[in-house]
Amino acid sequence: MRLLLASGSAHKVVELRRILHAEKVSVEVLGLTDVDAYPEPVENGATFEENALIKARAGFAVTGIPTLADDSGIEVDVLNKMPGVRSARWAGVHAQDGDNLALLIRQIADVEPARRTARFVCAMALVWAGGETVVRGVVEGSLAEEPRGERGFGYDPLFLPDGETRTTAQLSDDAKDAISHRGRALRAMAPHIEALAAQSECSAGADGEAPRASSEPQGR
Ligand code: IMP
Repeated sequence: MRLLLASGSAHKVVELRRILHAEKVSVEVLGLTDVDAYPEPVENGATFEENALIKARAGFAVTGIPTLADDSGIEVDVLNKMPGVRSARWAGVHAQDGDNLALLIRQIADVEPARRTARFVCAMALVWAGGETVVRGVVEGSLAEEPRGERGFGYDPLFLPDGETRTTAQLSDDAKDAISHRGRALRAMAPHIEALAAQSECSAGADGEAPRASSEPQGR
């Protein structure tokens, strides 16, 4: 079965292939560069789940290939769970990762350690001819007082996963994958993809048949 990951990130395509391989799920993963270009849908959902569904539905509507899409960000408790779905554009529509990180550092500068709790959240949606499903992966943690580490991206230099003394920008890719919101969401989605692939094989190779149809968010 072919599976489209509606993401322009080559890194995410490689990551998906690696995790599905580890979970022994055999599908052909395509990225957006492997299909004809189509207009990006407007991500105007109020939740990570809504945005992931918007992207997955758009990919499936255009290509007819079962489509996976993710949406992620950081929730900071003292900021009422913001930046949340606005994580990528926290410092403005054209903001770069460094601008967003610098703004967050300023916003929490005077917050005491015990109140610096935060989490990374990833919603992952799968849309196929028979239905759609959404799963969520979360990694709980807190915000360090100083940015540390050169790896990763976005808010990684500030994020200390619970039980870690290093920020996610100081972890190896494998160590981050093992605990990350995206790793958790992908592993939660793997059985759904496996079931869809098995159903697809049974139905004479037609993409898009489904073992079950659910629009309810699953897992956490
Ligand atoms: P996306 O939905 O994966 O593109 O992520 C949206 C935004 O959330 C990114 O631009 C980052 O600012 C932030 N973000 C999501 N995942 C991570 C992560 O693993 N580390 C650091 N920042 C992240």
